[in-house]
Amino acid sequence: MALGSASDSFENVFIKDKHINFIIEQESNRSYEYWLSEHLRMNGLYWGVTALITMKSLNDKTLAQKDVIDYILSCWDEKSGAFGAFPKHDAHILSTLSALQILKIYNNDLSMLTSEQKAKLTKFIKGLQLPNGSFQGDSFGEVDTRFTYTAISALALLDELTPSICKSASEFVMKCYNFDGGFGLVPGSESHAAQAFVCVGALAIMEKLNLLEDVKVSSWLSERQVLPSGGFNGRPEKLPDVCYSWWVLSTLSILQKKHWVDLSKLETFILSCQDYEKGGISDRPDNQTDIYHTCFGICGLSLIDYEKYGFEEIDPVYCMPTRVTKKFTKWKNTNQEQTK
Ligand SMILES: [Zn+2]
Repeated sequence: MALGSASDSFENVFIKDKHINFIIEQESNRSYEYWLSEHLRMNGLYWGVTALITMKSLNDKTLAQKDVIDYILSCWDEKSGAFGAFPKHDAHILSTLSALQILKIYNNDLSMLTSEQKAKLTKFIKGLQLPNGSFQGDSFGEVDTRFTYTAISALALLDELTPSICKSASEFVMKCYNFDGGFGLVPGSESHAAQAFVCVGALAIMEKLNLLEDVKVSSWLSERQVLPSGGFNGRPEKLPDVCYSWWVLSTLSILQKKHWVDLSKLETFILSCQDYEKGGISDRPDNQTDIYHTCFGICGLSLIDYEKYGFEEIDPVYCMPTRVTKKFTKWKNTNQEQTK
């Protein structure tokens, strides 16, 4: 629990060292809950690595590189040719992207993988695309724009995106675009902020942002800011939640409309969700912290003002430091120009 009512004196203080401890403990504390969350383990590792590197605190004292890479390689599913969330789990596109993002942070050439593994990964991901351009998460058939972003981002990390994949994938993404300016999970489903990120992010990677009515999309996104708290919600009438600081602000950043929202109120909201006693960030003030909201709260602060916090600048498209992404992407982050 945060020291909610006593937090006035801490207001606007970012407790970096406590967050680092919180993240390290997540990885070393093998509690019952830890084992229950096996299916999220690879994502959890990505959230921890991303939070640490954004705070410029990823090193062998916080999270040993060898342990991280050994863990990822132990999750390789030879049968499918991709990564599962946990050793011996079936491969899935979500854990595969997280694995590739982490490996890419350590080595742009992905030299920890053999050329045979890279070829298998490409085959696995391309094999998830359906004739209508959408992507499944695995061979069990669930379709969702999340998987489009995940597959497109993973192919970009492998340098395996082709014009024909981009053409059909972007056509599917545009079928999920709604009249209100938002995007849904599948064509015709309700607009949701996380879907705006995955759709706009995928279009950015594929260099297809010209398909968008960016003013309409940005208007829907800026309406996500809830006053007086300043936090963002995922849909109209819902409570604000720290993770939307990332989903909404990254998308506005991609569209170069970050200045359409009150960044200082959003910053205060994120800081108010810190647990001042134990570290970590929760979805809303005084709620239980977790690694997911800690990562996206920190990434949100990086988008707001990375220099002020002494952070890495984060790439709104890939959710990785721009120092890493500029080695492989043509996408240019215009983060700074929007605030200064
Ligand atoms: Zn959330």
